[in-house]
Amino acid sequence: MMKTDLHIHTTASDGRLTPLEILNHAIEVGLNHISITDHDTVDGLLELHELGYLANKKITIITGIEFSTDLPLNEVHILGYNIDIFSCELQKQLDLIIRDRWDRVNRTIEKLTELGYAVEFDRIVELAGNTTSIGRPHIARALVEKGYFPTVTEVFNTLLYKNGPAYVPHYKLSYTSVIKLIEQSGGISVLAHPGLVEDDTIVDDIINSGINGIEVYHPRHNSTQIEKYLELAKRNNLIVTGGSDFHGIPSRFPHKLGVFTSSTNILDYIE
Ligand SMILES: [Zn+2]
Ligand SMILES: [Zn+2]
Repeated sequence: MMKTDLHIHTTASDGRLTPLEILNHAIEVGLNHISITDHDTVDGLLELHELGYLANKKITIITGIEFSTDLPLNEVHILGYNIDIFSCELQKQLDLIIRDRWDRVNRTIEKLTELGYAVEFDRIVELAGNTTSIGRPHIARALVEKGYFPTVTEVFNTLLYKNGPAYVPHYKLSYTSVIKLIEQSGGISVLAHPGLVEDDTIVDDIINSGINGIEVYHPRHNSTQIEKYLELAKRNNLIVTGGSDFHGIPSRFPHKLGVFTSSTNILDYIE
């Protein structure tokens, strides 16, 4: 049986392992197909391409991405599979998202200054290292370093939590534009972890917007949800996918690749 994992994060977003470590790890545990689906970036895939490993004989890597969307109260994430990672339209949108991240850091510093906390932009950039997804964790670390708070969690709980005193919202696309963008980039759009959306009318709206598939198998879905989404997929003629949402974080299930797999084969729908 094919062992597939179509939902994996790397250091290109909030995962702990590099794209190459993921690749080696996946081969080691005997996976046949994987997709790297970092949040709002294809940098991990570009890295593998540059290293010459994107197409290799040991494992099939399906290109992927996981977009956040702009609904304020629900966690609507859309996966894009088999996208052209060099698509101009895709690169243009991803550049806007990255530029907004930097802009957000500046606007957060302004808010912090008004609240009486002084942090330097340059230090935050240093703390962010090589990542393109600079953000609240790096700002929080700078505040801890300055001695304002004992821990990063404390900073989040006091200032940086969603809609908190120093919170600046993200630039995000609507799910309809994400679905369109994925289509324009030659890909297949899939609603990620519908169980986490927590509102079935939104799930129905997204299906009616023309999404191609639904992630039925996800570590945070229980058996009732799996049954429900399988039925929904059947009724609406949707592609069924599954993935571990692996981040390489020891405290978060699954703590290693190969523990949560599915036999869904998205390759049947590609080409
Ligand atoms: Zn997600
Ligand atoms: Zn994810």
